[in-house]
Amino acid sequence: MSKTSIEGADALFQIAEPTAPQASQRAPGRGIGIDLGTTHSLVAIAPHGAAPRVLRDAEGRGLLPSIVSYIDERPQVGDPAAARQHERPDRVISSVKRFMGRGLAEVQFPHPYQLGDATGVLRVAVGDGREVSPVEVSAEILRVLKLRAEAELGGPVDGAVITVPAYFDDAQRQATRDAGRIAGLKVYRLLAEPTAAALAYGLDRNERGLFAIYDLGGGTFDISVLHLHSGVFQVLATGGDSALGGDDFDRALAAVLLARAAVSTPTPAQHDAARLAARALKERLSSVEEDRVSVPTIGLHDVSITRREFEAVIEPLAQRTIRACRQALKEAGVAVAELSGVVLVGGSTRVPRIRQMVEQAFGRAPLSDIDPDEVVAHGAAIQADILSGSERPGVTLLDVVPLSLGLETMGGIVEKIIPRNATIPISARQVFTNYSEQQTGMVIHVLQGERELARDNRSLARFELRGIPRLPPSMARVEVTFQLDADALLTVTARELMTGVKQSVEVKPTHGLSVEEVDRLVLESFDHAGDDYSARSVAEARVELGRVILAVRGPLAEVGHIEALLPPDDRMAIEAALREADDAMADSDSDADALSRARVRLEHTSEPFAARRMQRALSAGMAGKSLAEIEAALAADDLDVRRGGHGPALVPPAADGA
Ligand code: ADP
Ligand code: MG
Repeated sequence: MSKTSIEGADALFQIAEPTAPQASQRAPGRGIGIDLGTTHSLVAIAPHGAAPRVLRDAEGRGLLPSIVSYIDERPQVGDPAAARQHERPDRVISSVKRFMGRGLAEVQFPHPYQLGDATGVLRVAVGDGREVSPVEVSAEILRVLKLRAEAELGGPVDGAVITVPAYFDDAQRQATRDAGRIAGLKVYRLLAEPTAAALAYGLDRNERGLFAIYDLGGGTFDISVLHLHSGVFQVLATGGDSALGGDDFDRALAAVLLARAAVSTPTPAQHDAARLAARALKERLSSVEEDRVSVPTIGLHDVSITRREFEAVIEPLAQRTIRACRQALKEAGVAVAELSGVVLVGGSTRVPRIRQMVEQAFGRAPLSDIDPDEVVAHGAAIQADILSGSERPGVTLLDVVPLSLGLETMGGIVEKIIPRNATIPISARQVFTNYSEQQTGMVIHVLQGERELARDNRSLARFELRGIPRLPPSMARVEVTFQLDADALLTVTARELMTGVKQSVEVKPTHGLSVEEVDRLVLESFDHAGDDYSARSVAEARVELGRVILAVRGPLAEVGHIEALLPPDDRMAIEAALREADDAMADSDSDADALSRARVRLEHTSEPFAARRMQRALSAGMAGKSLAEIEAALAADDLDVRRGGHGPALVPPAADGA
């Protein structure tokens, strides 16, 4: 789940500005929302808080068939490509979404293409030695939509929100992002299709709730259960069937039409005619009230059908979707009665029988006012508008960090770096230091949670920054950056500022966390607030005392019996104070007061010793040492360790003596 990478020294030196979140550059009103669908794709805008609106081509069509032809030198996209599918089925790519982020071995469904993965990436041979990757094919579709938006906006697009199925894995999401980039789009973020549909209906304006999104498209059926909580949607469960959609209705109906026309072995032309007739009949039945519809066709006689006949044909398919809904609810642990709404998405939800069955299954009328073809693009457009920097009244939506993210420091204490409920994307930085001079490594232990001590939080990742120079306590400077991108991917980078040694790790903080768990963890932190506060004070007092002990004991051993520096009486007093300090450290019952009393006494008794060492360091400077060396010597002798440090100290790796 986490991958680490070590990078060499890197010349980039920065003056750390602790925990300063950075907002990215924005261009209000120039964000677009794209539904990159299997069958159709579309683009919508909702500039400056306006209602979302799907952009149309010169012929007034909003839906762009997701089909790209590579028959000619220049790719064609949409209807012109669809028209040439018969000419060269192997060079006209449709439903490319099924190939996104997939390897050759994962392509288990039938298709007319010649696939290869010689380069390690799935590619489609489109003739004359040309090969295209699914990412490039998708980029062609995105390019057309981007042009459409530019014409509408009368200028450049700033960025896009592109929707993906909720179940898309990291590789599929990355491929979609890449397609956007190749098309010249800044991808603000990817958005789950069901979440987009929920946003289109303004469901995020509710306080909280559970929603089901029923999406029946051309070739796929997706059911998602969403949980809304403080303006953020979380996908609780997804289900469905990647080989079930409106096209199956067409196929089933076409078979009936052919049988009725007594065509037992249809020619390809008859087959196509039947499919076209079936689709036309299906679509007519969802737009008129009549119980019998007919369409003119070539080569088939009986092309009328009754509503009951059609419904009987699709019944088994529709039943399958309902079963998948029950399954998804079960997986989400949600009862039908707990749902606050059901949303219809996808062209096939126009079929009245489908609406009826959904209503029956969920015990409520589904939300269907927004065109089911356009609803996902609407939601993407709303979010793109927000991310472009527009103000949208009444909309608070932006993903937030559900639990604080931080690092473990000495004493098992948590230093929070990104606080809970910060909006993402966000980046924050903080500088940490070393604890002892022996320390040549630091443990970067990434934690999530609200509690004060590391052991009470969730451990997300742990890595070591090695090869840092030996420096006096509190003098090392390790800058740690937490970067949480819009897709909630956290990248933690630690860099030692003197050598540039750097290492980073990527984690998905929400991975495997349910909403209930988040709620529980937050509530727990309230319950433990008092205990946590005192436990943290004790841990901090311990770390401080430990630092002072180290700062005294080292020089004490070095000076041996140089009486000028350390008269016997002083030594005895310091040793007594050290013993007391050791006892306080050893006693696990020591409270914060006892620990800081021991620290104050040790500091007090060792002050003259420190002063004499500082004096000596200064006179050494007179004897021809450089200013830098004197400063280093002074710093090394600086016993006021609480003042001298660069932030909290990080834990040394187990192998390091500290
Ligand atoms: P996808 O999300 O897979 O790109 P869409 O949401 O665009 O798919 O849905 C396409 C499907 O919707 C096609 O099977 C099409 O026949 C069907 N469809 C479109 N309009 C209607 C209608 N009026 N009645 C029934 N089905 C329709
Ligand atoms: Mg769709």
